Amino acid sequence: MLRLQQQPCSGAAAQQAQAVARLPTATRRHRLSVTAAASPTTGADNGRPTGPGAKKVLVVGGGWAGFGAVKHLAEQGYNVTLLDAAENPGGLSAGWRTPQGRAVEAGVKGFWYQYHNVFKMVKELGIPWPFTDFETSGFWGSDGKLITQAPVFSKQPRLPAILGQFVHTFNLFDNLPLANRATIIPWLYSAIDLGSTPGNYERYDKMTALEMFRSFGVTQRAYEQFLKPTLLVGLFAPPEELSAAVTIETLYFYALAHQSDFDVCWCKGSVSELIFAPLIERIKQQGGKIQGGRLVSGIETDAAGNVTALVARNTASGAEERYEADAVVFAISIAGMQRLVQANRALADRREFRDSTASRLASGLTAASPRNLHDEYKNEPGTVVAADFYGSTRLMPLTDEEIVRKVVSNMALCEPAFRDAKVVDSAVLRFPRAVTHFSPGSAQWRPTQATSFGNLFLAGDWVKGLQHGANGLSQERAYVSGLEAANLVVGRLGHGERADILPVEPDEPHIAAAKELNRSVKGALYAAGMRSPFL
Ligand SMILES: Cc1cc2nc3c(=O)[nH]c(=O)nc-3n(C[C@H](O)[C@H](O)[C@H](O)COP(=O)(O)OP(=O)(O)OC[C@H]3O[C@@H](n4cnc5c(N)ncnc54)[C@H](O)[C@@H]3O)c2cc1C
Repeated sequence: MLRLQQQPCSGAAAQQAQAVARLPTATRRHRLSVTAAASPTTGADNGRPTGPGAKKVLVVGGGWAGFGAVKHLAEQGYNVTLLDAAENPGGLSAGWRTPQGRAVEAGVKGFWYQYHNVFKMVKELGIPWPFTDFETSGFWGSDGKLITQAPVFSKQPRLPAILGQFVHTFNLFDNLPLANRATIIPWLYSAIDLGSTPGNYERYDKMTALEMFRSFGVTQRAYEQFLKPTLLVGLFAPPEELSAAVTIETLYFYALAHQSDFDVCWCKGSVSELIFAPLIERIKQQGGKIQGGRLVSGIETDAAGNVTALVARNTASGAEERYEADAVVFAISIAGMQRLVQANRALADRREFRDSTASRLASGLTAASPRNLHDEYKNEPGTVVAADFYGSTRLMPLTDEEIVRKVVSNMALCEPAFRDAKVVDSAVLRFPRAVTHFSPGSAQWRPTQATSFGNLFLAGDWVKGLQHGANGLSQERAYVSGLEAANLVVGRLGHGERADILPVEPDEPHIAAAKELNRSVKGALYAAGMRSPFL
């Protein structure tokens, strides 16, 4: 019997996956029900103007982004309906129960320090606090050796960024010598430089993250043992396949801008049961409707170029249903958007939608059950481990048993006792081409939230130009993009208040000053016809 935990494996260990425990392999799964089960139409008016007089809004996609949009629009009295292809929505944060009744999720979901809007929404729900405390994290190398640990930075004396992160981890690196770590320091300039001049973002975007790290002199060891696994976890792809611009944004948001940014807590159960279920209840109380099992496949427009209706297939009956709309929010992830564009001339004729089909997609794969952090498993004998493989396209053809064996053997590298572990239960979830791959040059293909249809708006963690600061493939970014899409609807239809979106903490004064200085110096150099030797 084994008990490993309190230090959730991330970084390299998560990339090459951890091990497992519990019962026989169970591949069949039942999606956790977060809606009122039998009837997919679950709206209720509750005195809100959701009758014929209220403007009709359709939100397509029931993940964090769609929930953000439908929640705010329901609160503002719109006649709003969310349509999702899955019977029980949740998107990439959905959950399932194995035939043995154990909860599993689409990947272990961390909630970072700067997820202010998610935390605010959960507080508003008035539910028992669903998150653990902020936890320490461990990083293991591909040789199984512990490279470093990340403390809970918010419990340490606060120092200016990035000094705080450096000082508080100084003694915690076991296997990455200071000389290697120090080579990352020059690269920090890129975080100062990213938005400094017009076109600079696009120049970084065309470069791979690997090229960027090399040009700043980061050593192979620091790259392999620290940066590469961190990026695999954060952006689902290795740095040689990632846009340097998105890499900088992501690392800045999650780790660099403030000492506490890397602090992470976890949901004490599945997001689906602990957060989405009460959120859906609240949306219904506000008059919003949630309709699962509706795959949107068609779009109707009028002569003025506005969307007038959507056509959806009822996945249970196979019947086609038509939904009229005054405004529409697509919160459907790139994969869903690509399928919709291919099937609809009205979308394929528009450049921003056509361009979005050029975006690449990465795969994720999750093995085993939620960890001991989940209340449900607190008193279980043995160890419960979740293992996420990112950028896992090559693993997709493996059988579940082969994947579980791979998890155990990788885990045994980190913790030798796992060699003798007996797997008593497991579940493997696959998400082929499910997440956005921010490949070099991808910025030009990503659409903004407003589209050339006057009343059609986009939301999701992949949209461009979201003026908020939460970056990467994050639940906070997705949720905020949904609130922002709701604000665009409010602006368009002219009814109700805008959602109040909490910003991420601003740059610390010394970082803001460094950015300003860099901007001035580069402006002067450019005016004199000179260019940076780097970009
Ligand atoms: C393995 C893994 C681990 C992750 N870990 C973390 C983490 O630790 N922390 C974190 O913050 N984020 C994490 N993420 C990222 C996070 O899950 C996503 O950023 C977020 O869930 C995206 O939400 P979304 O609403 O934009 O899209 P999605 O969740 O993808 O939702 C899109 C919805 O649209 C629906 N849809 C698509 N097409 C149609 C159609 N034609 N008609 C009707 N419905 C349609 C889908 O059914 C789906 O429900 C992880 C993701 C994965 C896969």
